[in-house]
Amino acid sequence: MTRAEEEGIGGQALADEPLARHTSYRIGGPADLYVVVRREEDLLGWVTLARREGVSYFVMGRGTNLLVADEGIRGIVIENRCRGVRSLTRSEGILLRVQAGGSLPSLARRTAKEGLGGLEWAVGIPGTVGGAIVNNAGAYGGSIAQRLQQLTLLDSQGFLRRMAVSELGLGYRTSRFKGEGSVILSADFALQAESRDLLLQRVASYERERRKSQPKEPSAGSVFKNPEGDYAGRLIEEAGLKGERIGDAQISPLHANYIVNLGQARARDVAALIRLVRERVWQKQGVLLELEIELVGDWEPGELTATMGILGQDKEWRDHPQL
Ligand SMILES: Cc1cc2nc3c(=O)[nH]c(=O)nc-3n(C[C@H](O)[C@H](O)[C@H](O)COP(=O)(O)OP(=O)(O)OC[C@H]3O[C@@H](n4cnc5c(N)ncnc54)[C@H](O)[C@@H]3O)c2cc1C
Repeated sequence: MTRAEEEGIGGQALADEPLARHTSYRIGGPADLYVVVRREEDLLGWVTLARREGVSYFVMGRGTNLLVADEGIRGIVIENRCRGVRSLTRSEGILLRVQAGGSLPSLARRTAKEGLGGLEWAVGIPGTVGGAIVNNAGAYGGSIAQRLQQLTLLDSQGFLRRMAVSELGLGYRTSRFKGEGSVILSADFALQAESRDLLLQRVASYERERRKSQPKEPSAGSVFKNPEGDYAGRLIEEAGLKGERIGDAQISPLHANYIVNLGQARARDVAALIRLVRERVWQKQGVLLELEIELVGDWEPGELTATMGILGQDKEWRDHPQL
């Protein structure tokens, strides 16, 4: 009997489970232990157990913003599938309390159908509420920061806390939570009553727009953040890199800020393309592109070290020496 079973901690646990089965990229080596949890007490149980035993842990949503190393992730990866929704009434509008493992696009569709406005922009963002908060996900002028009021979390010291949106350090595709060890449990969103027909029209038009502009192959969405006043995709296209391919990883011919997996791409192929883009855009346009996707796992420093030149000095390099 395992320690988790002895302590009554539930969840589906798989040893040496390839992350490629659980990321939108379909890329990533094995986690020592991969656990899917559907109840908050199990999520808390696994995190507490890992901390107590000194085992590293990584809580993820649907793996739609991740590039996981080919060598995988040591320790425990916990996939959060806790997805309850509760409505809290207040005098000035509607407040929804949503568990962090719930699907963001399902929430956007469901609230629009119920005539609750404020999350329609999120209909094409294929992750969880928790992942969306960590990245302050956004699209079409909307973002998590606009509707989030407060959240409940297990902080890095092991305390359960409520935090107001102003304390979360939300900025363009960032928050205080990246790599910080807190576990987001639930979030309160303030929505307003609106015409159901208008909301559903907006949802349908965002979905149409996505179908036109978004590559169909596996990806993690936009690889780079847009630099101030410009678009990463435009810079990459202007640098002549659209369609460039390393192994089965390709800079999408449809949308240059997507690197797609044509079938058997490895993480190191995607990383090599990332390096190529950053070098070329720096040389041609003098812009240093920052990553929007997150590199996680057991990357071998040196494995991919090639000529970095001036890029070797920047923050991305310090955070991810393998690039
Ligand atoms: C086709 C496609 C289109 C996309 N379009 C957009 C877009 O328009 N706009 C946009 O912003 N993003 C977009 N993305 C990126 C991605 O979907 C978002 O960043 C999404 O919010 C990530 O959610 P996730 O659940 O998959 O998080 P994951 O990728 O699983 O994790 C992301 C980070 O969140 C952390 N995390 C997840 N849950 C928790 C939790 N409960 N507690 C603590 N930390 C947690 C993880 O540890 C990790 O650091 C797109 C991706 C794809 C594949």
